[in-house]
Amino acid sequence: MPIFDYKCRGCGNKFELIVLKGTVVACPSCQSADLEQMLSAFSVSTDEMSRARVKKARARYIASKDVKDKHVAEAEDIREHMGEIPPPPPPKKS
Ligand SMILES: [Zn+2]
Repeated sequence: MPIFDYKCRGCGNKFELIVLKGTVVACPSCQSADLEQMLSAFSVSTDEMSRARVKKARARYIASKDVKDKHVAEAEDIREHMGEIPPPPPPKKS
């Protein structure tokens, strides 16, 4: 999504605007079309932020999968030794 930063030359208002095809760019506070387009750090930073978030989420997922596998292995081990007794439910966090 193309998000641009603008500064209104009329009232000095700074705002971000999603500019789609046919969007009329105007200041939301004074409706002036006399705007200065600024270098948008917003779209770049969100892109990088979401990439970092995906990386973190993936790391968390891998870690939790590991833990889960260990729990399953433990549970199966217990079942083998104790017959048909179901394993206790995993401890709930929070
Ligand atoms: Zn304005």
